[in-house]
Amino acid sequence: MIVDINELGPVDAQSADVCIVGSGAVGITMAREFVGTAHSIILLEGGGQAFESRSQEPYRSEIVGLHHDGVHNGRVRVVGGTTTLWAGQSLPLWDMDFQQRDWVPNSGWPVDKRTLRPFYRRAEEVLQIPHATYEAADLPDRGDSLPAYQGDAIVTYFSQFAAMPNFAQKYRANLKAAKNVMLLTHANAVAFDATPDATAIRELLVRSFQGKELRIRAKMFVICCGGIESARLLLASDSVEPHGIGNRHDMVGRFFQDHPGVAIPVRPLDHKRFSQWYGSFRKGDVRHCIKYAASETLQREKGILHVGGEVFYPISFAVTAAKLFAGAFSQMFRKKREATEAQDDPNAIQPVSQTRMFNALATVAQRLDQVGKTAFFRRYVLGKVVSMAALQPHVGFSVEQEPNPFSRVTLSRQTDSLGMRRTVLDWRLTKSEGRSIAVFAQALSDEWRKLGLAEFNPDDLEIGGREQGEHGGFIDASHHMGTTRMGADPTTSVVDPSCRVHGYANLYVGSSSVFPTSGFSNPTLTTLALCLRICDEIKTKLSNSIMAVA
Ligand SMILES: Cc1cc2nc3c(=O)[nH]c(=O)nc-3n(C[C@H](O)[C@H](O)[C@H](O)COP(=O)(O)OP(=O)(O)OC[C@H]3O[C@@H](n4cnc5c(N)ncnc54)[C@H](O)[C@@H]3O)c2cc1C
Repeated sequence: MIVDINELGPVDAQSADVCIVGSGAVGITMAREFVGTAHSIILLEGGGQAFESRSQEPYRSEIVGLHHDGVHNGRVRVVGGTTTLWAGQSLPLWDMDFQQRDWVPNSGWPVDKRTLRPFYRRAEEVLQIPHATYEAADLPDRGDSLPAYQGDAIVTYFSQFAAMPNFAQKYRANLKAAKNVMLLTHANAVAFDATPDATAIRELLVRSFQGKELRIRAKMFVICCGGIESARLLLASDSVEPHGIGNRHDMVGRFFQDHPGVAIPVRPLDHKRFSQWYGSFRKGDVRHCIKYAASETLQREKGILHVGGEVFYPISFAVTAAKLFAGAFSQMFRKKREATEAQDDPNAIQPVSQTRMFNALATVAQRLDQVGKTAFFRRYVLGKVVSMAALQPHVGFSVEQEPNPFSRVTLSRQTDSLGMRRTVLDWRLTKSEGRSIAVFAQALSDEWRKLGLAEFNPDDLEIGGREQGEHGGFIDASHHMGTTRMGADPTTSVVDPSCRVHGYANLYVGSSSVFPTSGFSNPTLTTLALCLRICDEIKTKLSNSIMAVA
């Protein structure tokens, strides 16, 4: 069932077996795992069923490090969370991403790929994509060959896109019909209350924007608020532990990571082969994208981070941007009208719609020449069908970050409309990210030239002199990771290998915030695999406790 907290009536407490905080990809997936079981679930969502500027407001943050777009524009407070915005591209982490690497400080997961394999399979089912190895050999037949690189520096992978990426659309009916799951909207988790000995969560304080307060009591709590907000909620819960829950060793919020990216135009020498090899393609409902990445050999020999990427055609960005612009414009217009009707403040901050609209407009303007020259001119003046070969391809790179304890989320003195201290984001890179891209770009450029395929000049990439504190040409990818890192040692991590907060018997974190390192793969498939693993553990614990009582 789905209930708005403001319509609950005069109750001040609710109980359930499991309380899941946040209804993004992770929260919804976890709640669905319990549908039809004997366990009662409360799924809390701070936003409503549609985007609202008021619900988005608590995400407004202070940026003190590198410019970071995603902290404002890359996460959405609404049922479905950021899946209302994301692309659904799915790719697992690779074996070496989990390993401790001598040349990557603070690397190494306490679990390996083999342990996660069955959960990856289940995560694929959630995303409704076929099970795959994502290696070139497993690529669906598309009637042509793949790049036959001569050296062993580059490997080819592929990603799969969820056909229906919006989890609210995909699973709303499922949640509505579930008798044992209550999705409570406009229910903002404000702070956990721990037992005096700080070994368990007693209850969770929830607040609506209209000032209604509710205490949630549950046997198990799971924080699924995304890679930034999950840390914020722990830090804000300071009634028993003065620096926040799980933060005895000052680890919550540290090691914030994203996937810094950079791109430049590439000149195909063999247009046909190039677009055949690197163009995305569909098989059934599922779109596939070809990825190039640094091989384990190259990473090891050159001491670089995991770098990968894909060829893209910015015209598709322009088209997407134009669509976003139209959507954001109508959304803003609608919001103003609704606000006026509701005597609300029409000037209230609308970080997503307003900033996204202006960003989209800027993107369209920057690409107008391409849109005009290629699409319009070719289609309507020359009367030719626009083909990918006629457009300017770009070679894109995305790199894992070296885990850096000084790249972090902390709390501001400023508070949001719920009375919670705001996020301060200090995103920092080291020199390794730029160096890794430079090494890999050179290897890729050499290979492409040897194959007579395409050419680009790696020196044109804006990564020279990219010192800490400079932003250079990097952009973030709205992949927020690392702030509640997983580890066996409570002094250097926040959650244990099963994603349970060290020292707390009934508190888990289901988020990419637990990633100790992040590979170059999009994070959500791995996050879903981890959260399905949490579900199994919680189910076992709940069943054991029922049996113990019986
Ligand atoms: C444009 C874009 C494209 C992307 N493309 C990809 C991609 O192709 N592949 C990929 O893997 N990743 C992609 N990502 C990243 C991906 O969207 C996120 O990693 C993923 O959606 C995170 O899911 P989540 O459930 O952990 O967090 P979120 O989706 O952020 O959900 C968190 C939920 O918690 C709620 N919440 C937060 N705080 C509270 C609180 N205090 N109380 C109650 N509720 C709260 C929020 O309202 C939200 O619903 C993309 C992101 C963006 C912005």
